Amino acid sequence: MIELKNVSAGYRDREILHDISMVLPEKEITSIIGPNGSGKSTLLRVITSWIKTSRGEVLLNGKRIGEYSPREIARHIAILPQSREIPVTTVERLVSHGRFPYLGLSRKPTKEDREAVNEAMRSVGVWDMRHRQLSELSGGERQKVYLAMAIAQGTDYLLLDEPTTFLDISYQMEVMSLARRFADEGKSVIAVLHDISAALCISDKLIVLKDGAALACGTPQDILKSNVIGQAFGVDIGSYQQKDGTTGYYFIKKK
Ligand code: ADP
Ligand code: MG
Repeated sequence: MIELKNVSAGYRDREILHDISMVLPEKEITSIIGPNGSGKSTLLRVITSWIKTSRGEVLLNGKRIGEYSPREIARHIAILPQSREIPVTTVERLVSHGRFPYLGLSRKPTKEDREAVNEAMRSVGVWDMRHRQLSELSGGERQKVYLAMAIAQGTDYLLLDEPTTFLDISYQMEVMSLARRFADEGKSVIAVLHDISAALCISDKLIVLKDGAALACGTPQDILKSNVIGQAFGVDIGSYQQKDGTTGYYFIKKK
């Protein structure tokens, strides 16, 4: 379980997140939404202990996250950051990096490590491209490879920072349906999404951030009822019935 208790955090002397308290929902998809610069990526960084809290604490299974080593944290939490360079390596080698928290002093992968890597590549659908260079892949294919690396890490928590940005619609849908499958299989998925409509459709819970404060954490229905999205983004929300019976959303800028 990951719990934030009165967490404030930021960079140098600038506080970005202010007094955030919440328990991260487990075995579900939770989306973090909020305007640009509201602190979404910073929130993920504080959860992984990349940046320290200036006040309050992040607890992982009841213990302060700062008391775990980076390797220990990486056995519980995998994160796909917002921007990544493209290393010169093959798909299989990159996915193997997901096993780094488990390697011993010899740094030699065990049979178990190799199986976890193969299983991750199969489950995400990149097995057939395992010998290809990362630089030869499309953005969508590459994103799936990074996802496979995070899955190979074998964690309970999967943190995704804008995993669908810059992907075409079919890859967006594929990445989100993979996230859904991981959650159904018992992973706790926490995703920063810039597409509010997609977030409302696919999430079990939503966290709405504005100016570093958590305005709300609840189900899409709760969030829609509370009009907190309107408050955060300065828009009115409308909904419509889509052909397949599901609900779609549209947004109108408030005057
Ligand atoms: P979001 O992901 O919601 O767009 P961020 O968490 O990236 O927002 O950023 C929140 C604020 O923190 C912004 O004002 C941004 O300029 C600042 N910030 C982000 N990263 C850094 C950094 N590494 N050093 C200093 N300030 C940063
Ligand atoms: Mg961000």
